[in-house]
Amino acid sequence: MKRKSGEFGWIGQIRERFAPSVPAGTVGIGDDGAVIPVGGGRSIVATTDMLVEDVHFVRDAITANDLGYKSLAVNLSDLAAMGAEPLASFLSVGIPKEVDEAWKEGFLAGYQSLSEEFNVPLLGGDTTAAGKIIISVTALGSVSDGQVKRRNGARPGDIVCVTGTLGDSAAGLLLQSQTPENEDERSLIAAHHRPKPYVKEGVWLGRQAAVHAMMDVSDGIASDLMHILEESGVAARVELDALPQSGALRRTAARRGWDAEKLAVTGGEDYVLLIAVQRDRFDQLNRCFSSEFGTELHPIGEILPGRPNIEWQRGGEVQEIDYKGYTHEI
Ligand code: ADP
Ligand code: MG
Repeated sequence: MKRKSGEFGWIGQIRERFAPSVPAGTVGIGDDGAVIPVGGGRSIVATTDMLVEDVHFVRDAITANDLGYKSLAVNLSDLAAMGAEPLASFLSVGIPKEVDEAWKEGFLAGYQSLSEEFNVPLLGGDTTAAGKIIISVTALGSVSDGQVKRRNGARPGDIVCVTGTLGDSAAGLLLQSQTPENEDERSLIAAHHRPKPYVKEGVWLGRQAAVHAMMDVSDGIASDLMHILEESGVAARVELDALPQSGALRRTAARRGWDAEKLAVTGGEDYVLLIAVQRDRFDQLNRCFSSEFGTELHPIGEILPGRPNIEWQRGGEVQEIDYKGYTHEI
């Protein structure tokens, strides 16, 4: 079989090499977090994510406070994607000499505000000198064994849904180095700099047997849905007109001549949850979800039998598009 290149090829090699050492019952590489059973019907979930200057962010384009918030948010999002409640975080940073005290203070204040919002204590980490700012956060969560949601449980017939709008963060990335012209643009930049982790929603969805698979959207729906399809051994059909777009995205894209649909399909870092739900239980699940959280699940397509592949449709007509999500070239 041809090896994949880039980030996912490398991860595949690591996964294959170390698979024999993963104990039965433990989930290792391939999901949003690792799952380690600790007895008593519970497991620890562990996840780690890096943010590297000039790869994930530009120092002058994001405030230190927002970067601190985001560093933890992306990790809490991965815990939520497994159905786990956050327990603790660990913060490792590489900091160049010229970074001043105000930046460090701002970073910690942003990190702390999200820690406090979800009661996630910071319990350790590491600090080193570096040429650029490098942030690596590890988060631990706790989940009841029966409520772990993985990427491999999607079944033909399932409805594919997301918990929020797509493409806002990608638009924010395009706008971040400019002065925002209105409230819409400010909200798009905020979606990119201060993404909302769906912590409570993930735990709630973890408890629902009708949810067969779950992950968070970090690389764009085109790339991330493929991970669910590959892990589950199924295909999917997605209706492009059903992809939820915020008013801010629609208006800004129209004004600036951007393709909002392309941003919604390929744009990363929305950190909404992507789920596959048993079809005959979807309506009831959606009613309960919206009474609990005040927002609806957005159905965007369905799982089909077949080899991992996404069939894009518009108004029921198959579309030949070549949208891809974000992959790091390494
Ligand atoms: P996410 O976007 O949910 O954080 P990633 O795409 O970063 O997931 O990673 C996919 C999977 O690969 C995860 O299970 C992650 O733990 C694993 N992974 C990524 N990089 C490495 C690495 N260098 N060593 C071991 N596992 C890795
Ligand atoms: Mg993830």
